[in-house]
Amino acid sequence: MIGAGGVATVAAFKIAQNADVFTEFMIASRRKTKCDKIVEDIHKAGYKLDIKTAQVDADDVEQLKTLFNDFKPELVINLALPYQDLTIMDACLACGCNYLDTANYEPKDEAHFEYSWQWAYRERFEKAGLTAILGCGFDPGVTSIYTAYAAKHHFKEIQYLDIVDCNAGDHHKAFATNFNPEINIREITQKGLYWENGKWVETEPLEIHKDLTYPEIGPRDSYLLHHEEIESLVINYPTIKRARFWMTFGQQYLKHLEVIQNIGMSRIDEVEYEAPLADGTGTAKVKIVPLQFLKAVLPNPQDLGENYEGQTSIGCRIRGIGNDGKEHTYYVYNNCSHRAAYEETGMQGVSYTTGVPAMIGAMMFCKGLWRKPGVYNVEEFDPDPFMEQLNKQGLPWHEIHDGDLEL
Ligand code: NDP
Repeated sequence: MIGAGGVATVAAFKIAQNADVFTEFMIASRRKTKCDKIVEDIHKAGYKLDIKTAQVDADDVEQLKTLFNDFKPELVINLALPYQDLTIMDACLACGCNYLDTANYEPKDEAHFEYSWQWAYRERFEKAGLTAILGCGFDPGVTSIYTAYAAKHHFKEIQYLDIVDCNAGDHHKAFATNFNPEINIREITQKGLYWENGKWVETEPLEIHKDLTYPEIGPRDSYLLHHEEIESLVINYPTIKRARFWMTFGQQYLKHLEVIQNIGMSRIDEVEYEAPLADGTGTAKVKIVPLQFLKAVLPNPQDLGENYEGQTSIGCRIRGIGNDGKEHTYYVYNNCSHRAAYEETGMQGVSYTTGVPAMIGAMMFCKGLWRKPGVYNVEEFDPDPFMEQLNKQGLPWHEIHDGDLEL
């Protein structure tokens, strides 16, 4: 596993809890001390799995190759940042390793994400006989698997798909992001995008919003965003007439986001800054990226867990033609408690809802259930064994048939 952040910590805990499937395990990241700390916490919690750790710069294919040739992993779980997806895939191809991630590639200098960069690896993975599993977190990930499950068991034709993501938690900070702030703010400040009648429709950032009611939570203002799983789902389910993604934001969060943008702190280009030298002998011109600097002063998402209350609720609201030929609606969702996630893994619910599916995807691969040469989004595999594990591994799902979808 590469990365030692919030999501990686949860995935590592879950891997240690499933030591019958995962027999040899290594955590490698930019800083080995962070990997060692995860192992220490896992062992303190009473899990016995022997876990190796290593330092690696995942931007550097040669370093990755050296590491992979040394440890010889069957599967590399990429839980670093989206910037490292391609270097890790290159190293996997060079060393004969299979691959899994939770977020699609994003170039550092352009706030833009799409699957084309990773889909371009299809033929190379096929020829090498290797499996690459893309987007195996919650969204993308579980939401795509929910859709595959609905298509397999409940619908002849899915026509309308709305993915709804609510975080109704309170971390008692004025402003913090729930996962890597740089990636999070880049995602939210982009233009909105959804699929309708065979084409993409663009909106201004956060232009479209409405109240949606979430189970055990109530109504929350939900904003239409561009989200990566829509891109593959409309290809894999061509009967879909409209597909959208909604995420809740509180007024306090949006107020801070607006100020951050207005004062230029969400910029991702380099700006020059006259910085004092550490030895006090003068100053030097340095280049900083404002959004990366902002990340350094914002609360670390990994430290939010302790006082986090409330829960997340993420699911798919689907309308289409059922197996009986009549129109039906279907809502499948999970609610996850931040406190319960923290008590089990030391991390909050957003890391938990991503790290658990990453482990289950790895389990599907290791058990031979999700193995086929090529590059695949998760909805292209059998959803049933994954859905079964969600119930066993801490993310149980619930269904509402023929309810009011509000959409
Ligand atoms: P963090 O920033 O907490 O963790 C990222 C980790 O990767 C850190 O340990 C970081 O090192 C390490 N890292 C960064 N760059 C490198 C590098 N060049 N070489 C080696 N290691 C590196 O992020 P999260 O844990 O919150 O998120 C992890 C991934 O999960 C991201 O890709 C994110 O987009 C994705 N995600 C997916 C979701 C989904 O539902 N699909 C939801 C939430 C997140 P260091 O600790 O030294 O900074």
